[in-house]
Amino acid sequence: MDYEQLPSLSIITHEQRTTSSPDSDRDAMQILRHTSLYYAHGDIALSAQYSDTVKYIFRVHRLFLTHHSEVFQDKIEALARDDGLPVEEYDGVPLLVLDNEDSSDGVASLLEVFYDVSSLPRRLAAEQRADLPLQLCGLLDISTRYHVQGVVSTIKDHIRKEWPVTLRGWEVRQLEFDSTPILHDVLPEAVSAIQFATEYNIPSILPAAFYLLSITPTNSDWRDQIPKSNVSSARWFSLDDSNAVRFAKGRDAMIAFYLDEAAKLDPGQDQYGFNMLSTHPRCKCDYSPLLLELRLLAVNRHLDCLRALSILSDRCKHDHKLCTSCMTRMRTHFQHMRTEIWKKLPDFFIVREDGNRITWNA
Ligand SMILES: [Zn+2]
Repeated sequence: MDYEQLPSLSIITHEQRTTSSPDSDRDAMQILRHTSLYYAHGDIALSAQYSDTVKYIFRVHRLFLTHHSEVFQDKIEALARDDGLPVEEYDGVPLLVLDNEDSSDGVASLLEVFYDVSSLPRRLAAEQRADLPLQLCGLLDISTRYHVQGVVSTIKDHIRKEWPVTLRGWEVRQLEFDSTPILHDVLPEAVSAIQFATEYNIPSILPAAFYLLSITPTNSDWRDQIPKSNVSSARWFSLDDSNAVRFAKGRDAMIAFYLDEAAKLDPGQDQYGFNMLSTHPRCKCDYSPLLLELRLLAVNRHLDCLRALSILSDRCKHDHKLCTSCMTRMRTHFQHMRTEIWKKLPDFFIVREDGNRITWNA
């Protein structure tokens, strides 16, 4: 995944124990022991890359590794196999050199879960909601590679539950938006969620995440820190090409649907000037200000149409002086529009589920 900024996944304090002298050879690999995951009685050492010039050594108990991961079990069995080659050791125990893709941060976060399974729910609860997908992708990657299914499913479920899948659920979030000064305390940043969902195949996130992105002003860029405002912002430059196309097409399709549905509200008039669709006898309600307002709202390219229709529904009695029959008809149609817009989000944003995979009807 290509993000603007990938934060460290684990807070590690480091202590240099054994290394070549910094003065002796600047290019030499620095070998550092991990301070919290280096157990004196551990029976196996793991080395993982931190950077091009730094590796960390973990000294742990193989029982924890093999209990949680068959991949670790295979690697350890391969290490112990007598193939005539001496087993590499570190500090008196066998050394398992991990692949470069297993960063020391990722290994540390996985080992923390192995030693204390309850640390994962605590971590999930403690992470800042706004950046949750980014915070967890490192642990999810390494858990996937090492077939630690419990961690994979726990993380995916947690992220999945962050995003509403029903209009009612979205309305609850909207109430939360209104009662908090910081919008991203309520929902994660949309672009990282979309990239996360496509990378890890969690399609249920996408309709709400694309909708959130569609109501985010494109000039509202996510900076290095979580924005302290109730205006949504996004990592616009991290949206990959395919998702950018889906976003642009989806927003246009959604606004087009909104305008089409709004046009259906014009009842037309009979030859005597009475509204043709009203059940109210001799209704001459003037719809034009309301219809004009509906159309003008769509000039805003990041229109929150679900919210706008809800507000209009509340206002159509007093601000537009409609008769009871017309007001009921308007409100029913506004609610129909909101329901249909929510239902059609996967169509607008070209999200399809084919079996268990996300596919794109591009
Ligand atoms: Zn009327």
